[in-house]
Amino acid sequence: MTRGKLIVVSAPSGAGKTTIVKAILAKYPSLLFSVSATTRPIRAGEVDGKDYFFLSRAEFERRISIGQLVEWEEIYGNLYGTLRTEVDKALSVGKTMVFDIDVKGALSIKRHYPADSVLIFIRPPSFDVLRSRLSNRRTEDEATLTRRLDRVPMELQMQDQFDFQVVNDDLQTAIGEVEAIITKHVNLVPP
Ligand code: ADP
Ligand code: 5GP
Repeated sequence: MTRGKLIVVSAPSGAGKTTIVKAILAKYPSLLFSVSATTRPIRAGEVDGKDYFFLSRAEFERRISIGQLVEWEEIYGNLYGTLRTEVDKALSVGKTMVFDIDVKGALSIKRHYPADSVLIFIRPPSFDVLRSRLSNRRTEDEATLTRRLDRVPMELQMQDQFDFQVVNDDLQTAIGEVEAIITKHVNLVPP
């Protein structure tokens, strides 16, 4: 059986990683997406079990205590984590899985699966562009927007530990660069 890879995409909030990951998944149906668990409230348009498994904090903590999470982090006051069942789903059948997780979670995946993971950091062209994308997305109030932006310096500092960095200025160019990185590492059925 060929081994699949764990493609981990991280970025500061608002840099465009979800948009890029969704475009790649739509193009390559053989790729799996790791559906994370989170305690944050569901956003308009999100689907429970598809975008995230939306859990109460008590349920999330119960799952940590019984070892169901490969990694988890508290981010912007909510818990987010990768479920062991998701990773096993990919590795047991040799499929490639894409992760949209934060920088610390990405490095945890690398520590757990050093030979199988490829880490890609998506960078915004500038801090001002990042702020305006996040604000235009209209998912955050002023307090949570500030909280997300406060984390950016730490996130940018960690980008050197990633295998690849892609600047998301023009969206189609960034999607093409991420696609090229993935197809260099795994054989995908051509679209
Ligand atoms: P993230 O998942 O990194 O938080 P999103 O994918 O939600 O970011 O993107 C944040 C916002 O920026 C969204 O409204 C998205 O449509 C927009 N966006 C993403 N990439 C670009 C780009 N290259 N140019 C302009 N807007 C973009
Ligand atoms: P959002 O609330 O915008 O969907 O996500 C906030 C942050 O949590 C993003 O950086 C996202 O990548 C990250 N995130 C989502 N799922 C996970 C996960 O399973 N583990 C970790 N460590 N971070 C995650």
